[in-house]
Amino acid sequence: MLKKLLVAVLVLNFFALPAPAQAKRKITLLLYGGKIFTAVDDQTIAEAVAVDGERIVAVGPSAEIRAKYEGATEIDLKGKLVTPGFNDAHVHFLRGALALLTVNLLDAKSLDEAKSRVAAKAKEVKPGEWIIGRGWDHTLWGGKFPSRKDLDALAPDNPVYLVRVDGHVAWVNSKALALAKITKTTKDPEGGAIERDADGEPTGILKETSQELVSALLPAPTAEQQTKAMTLALDLARKYGITSVQDNSGYRTTFLYREFLKRDKLTVRVSEWLDFEDSVQELKRQRDEFTAFNDDRNRLHLGAVKGYVDGTLGSKTAAMLAPFSDDDKNSGIPRRPQAELTKMIVERDAAGFQLTLHAIGDLANRMGLNAYEAAKNARAAKAGGEKSIDNPMQRLNPLRHRIEHAQVVNPSDFKRFRDLGIIASMQPSHAISDKRWAESRLGEYRVLGAYAWHLMRSYGVHVPFGTDFPVESINPYRTLYAAVARQDESGEPLGGWQPQEKLSIEAAIRCHTFESAYAEFQENEKGVIAPGMLADLVVHSKDLLTIAPAEILTTEPVYTIFNGHIVYQSGE
Ligand SMILES: [Zn+2]
Repeated sequence: MLKKLLVAVLVLNFFALPAPAQAKRKITLLLYGGKIFTAVDDQTIAEAVAVDGERIVAVGPSAEIRAKYEGATEIDLKGKLVTPGFNDAHVHFLRGALALLTVNLLDAKSLDEAKSRVAAKAKEVKPGEWIIGRGWDHTLWGGKFPSRKDLDALAPDNPVYLVRVDGHVAWVNSKALALAKITKTTKDPEGGAIERDADGEPTGILKETSQELVSALLPAPTAEQQTKAMTLALDLARKYGITSVQDNSGYRTTFLYREFLKRDKLTVRVSEWLDFEDSVQELKRQRDEFTAFNDDRNRLHLGAVKGYVDGTLGSKTAAMLAPFSDDDKNSGIPRRPQAELTKMIVERDAAGFQLTLHAIGDLANRMGLNAYEAAKNARAAKAGGEKSIDNPMQRLNPLRHRIEHAQVVNPSDFKRFRDLGIIASMQPSHAISDKRWAESRLGEYRVLGAYAWHLMRSYGVHVPFGTDFPVESINPYRTLYAAVARQDESGEPLGGWQPQEKLSIEAAIRCHTFESAYAEFQENEKGVIAPGMLADLVVHSKDLLTIAPAEILTTEPVYTIFNGHIVYQSGE
């Protein structure tokens, strides 16, 4: 403290001596007296940040910054921690937003609890109207899938469509099956499975692509519903200090975002992903059309083209090199054969698109890497222009192709992520939700390469963090907690699950800020607190760098600052 005072006095003297007194530069916002974790590296801490308009103009000691600048708004941080705003590198923002309007089955602790939430909705709707919900997780209820029979009595006159927490399985009632004409004789669609009972009758559980047989019948959300839902989701983001999202909602959603942007209500920066299943020609059309709109690129831009290689571990649809340890005849479902995946990747890479692939199982991750390697070879065969790029990772992977989740990776493939420069976009929350059954499903050997963000980073791989909202809560503090503690909310297991994969809190924050910005080519605009960067900042209620990990869960923003403006302030 004494040392700090001394420094402050010296600095003041320095500015007092050379008369005449310099006029302070007027700026819009000045934060001082805090602990600013810049995220430039794991160590750099400052005291004050000066913001003018949408950008940071200076970062440094409080005395120095206050001597030079006068903020239209000045905030005494009283020692509080400031970090860059959180950048969620993997969300389904519109789906999550719409889920806020439907039956919420997240955290339903029993089948009865899930049923009672559906029953409550059934009382509100008209006969024939769809009951839509999401978030159920049968692994919380003993691990047996529910069936249509659980729903039939609750809502005999309404079709019911309930999506599992991971989005990869639907649970429907008999009315919904009838409307979709799914019977004993219906064949499984490619890449999906209709679960059947001993008599061959559909049970009401639809896995992967078979969900589309019913979801195709759902009424599309109206424009009004979408706007309402998005308003709620943006509220949620501000409340959690999220200032950027990388979004799975698809090209059409950019039109909705543009409406919010026009009204200056878009309080997150959006990188919107395109759909891998669209033809190259259609993807190019979307890119051209979007470019012509000429939006503020830092607020809304097109990101990666996203595809799926497999399903999920929770539904046992992840594509595995060997069968699941708790289901020896099942090794999951790849969406398409390797040759077809590779062909699509090579074509889209050649058209200049950043690509990203959902890959959960070790086979799926390997298939993704194989396809990216083929694209790299095809590119190398064509030109040698990439040699001039400085960043070695980027030289390997100039389009910054990514794999989403990278959830179960074979030991020999971590090195391939590095050698190909592939970004591993990971969601720590999944580990603490899945750990209850992941070990028995994977076995003690494979589990060592699962949710292995520390190992991945130790190979020098870029690892941005996200939540996969609404598969998990959008709460970034839960992500940080999962990353550093590897424990669930009740502190289980003691010492952490596969504790060798814990990260330092500093590294975890950087993964959720700087690394996420890198993954969307925005690391020169945001993700760190430095002069010239966009002013997206969070002032936290607790000092994340020093508190016990369990305390991270109850930390929240005191201020969320987006684009230089205070967009959220807690009641504190
Ligand atoms: Zn996802």
